[in-house]
Amino acid sequence: MSVSTRSDSPDMEPSFRESVDLMFNRAVSLMNLSPGLEEKIRVCNATYTVRFGVRLRGQIHTFTGYRSVHSEHMEPVKGGMRFALSVNQNEVEALAALMTYKCALVETPFGGSKGGLCIDPRDWDDHELEQITRRFAYELIKRDLINPAQNVPAPDMGTGEREMAWIADQYKRMNTTDINGQACVTGKPINAGGIAGRTEATGRGVQYALREYFRDPRDVARAKMEGGLDRKRVIVQGLGNVGYHAAKFLVEEDGCIVTAVVERDGAVFDNDGLDIPRLKDWIDTHGGVSGYPEARFHEEGAALLEEECDILIPAALEAVIDRGNADRIRAKLIIEAANGPVTPGADDILRKKGVVIIPDLYANAGGVTVSYFEWVKNLSHIRFGRMQRRQEEARHELIVKELERLDRYLGDAWSMSPDFKSKYLRGADELELVRSGLDDTMRTAFQSMRDVLHSREDVHDLRTAAYIVAIERVAGSYRAKGL
Ligand code: GLU
Repeated sequence: MSVSTRSDSPDMEPSFRESVDLMFNRAVSLMNLSPGLEEKIRVCNATYTVRFGVRLRGQIHTFTGYRSVHSEHMEPVKGGMRFALSVNQNEVEALAALMTYKCALVETPFGGSKGGLCIDPRDWDDHELEQITRRFAYELIKRDLINPAQNVPAPDMGTGEREMAWIADQYKRMNTTDINGQACVTGKPINAGGIAGRTEATGRGVQYALREYFRDPRDVARAKMEGGLDRKRVIVQGLGNVGYHAAKFLVEEDGCIVTAVVERDGAVFDNDGLDIPRLKDWIDTHGGVSGYPEARFHEEGAALLEEECDILIPAALEAVIDRGNADRIRAKLIIEAANGPVTPGADDILRKKGVVIIPDLYANAGGVTVSYFEWVKNLSHIRFGRMQRRQEEARHELIVKELERLDRYLGDAWSMSPDFKSKYLRGADELELVRSGLDDTMRTAFQSMRDVLHSREDVHDLRTAAYIVAIERVAGSYRAKGL
């Protein structure tokens, strides 16, 4: 693999929030919504900004945080909580809008919301971060901006199960008699009300999305490829929670070859395929990919995005593919594991070049899907599978016994496959049920986009199809309310 260097800066591009509006407008121009309803769906209902002080290291530090509610056509509203220095109102509102469309597309019964705190978590030790998170949560909880019935955050960039456990605990301290308190936030650790499979859910969703894409040879041909996922060459940008799990599963279970990983401090590449868990270990201990001994390193990481590959997975930041580099992208298929990685300008260029994009609101919806399962689990106060698992096994056993009888009767003419019995007997546990629910969700949502794409001559890309499906559902729910 040879690498070029990305040099020029892009022309002025719309802000992230304008980008989401542009994509929204492109879809509604092909729909039949009344202008009033169109406006109602598009606008962000409210954004709350909080500035709070925490005494740390002998002085008061002031932090700025946001929680934005885009649409309350269904409640609770749902969306992650981002901790990053780049967090700002514009970004939080764009992400909240994406959550509305994402939830509608994958039929999770939520409105859209998002939160963020301007902070670099690496600047603070664990104890300090806990104090900051709890204080931020306190500000939101007392205004019902965190509440199991109204607004349910989840992990996003810079946060994970640890922060969610602090938030849940803070809520319970402030609402000691709320029996559903645990459902005020998702993405919690298993021992604090979480659900099996939530951590890897977004990456798993990316895998299931690609599997569904490759099930239809018409789609595969549109991206100028053939066959299945096996041996497809993949470039991943960002080996955080989402990128790591997507890459790991695609390599281990689908036979993909990850030829390059782009990170903050540069990129590593190997034509024969990178060992994802080893690379992840290296990044976790050294803070970046530089110095990784088992692959070649290139300092100008973004240049690797432009290398030839079958599938490009941007899984980190917004706007990494813009008008400045879109023309040089040589991937055949881009799957947006991050939110907003392709700007509208880049989207136009790529569509004209025939590059297929699986859009963010679908591609990374695995996270919120499993969040939905966790919320339901918390409200029902019982682990999935607990009631039926052994009963299922007992019923399966009846069939196995009959088959064993047949096996004896038929002698050498027929016998059960060696591992059939153990596989068939085992009732599904929570993880298997979560995977099955996620797989079904990703397939069904893809099929709804595919139906629009293949049945309408005025729709030429999956993003527009996804927005049409989502907006139609949100509109339907507003109409049902009599709006
Ligand atoms: N932060 C994730 C997203 O952007 C997950 C949201 C959730 O689970 O509520 O989709």
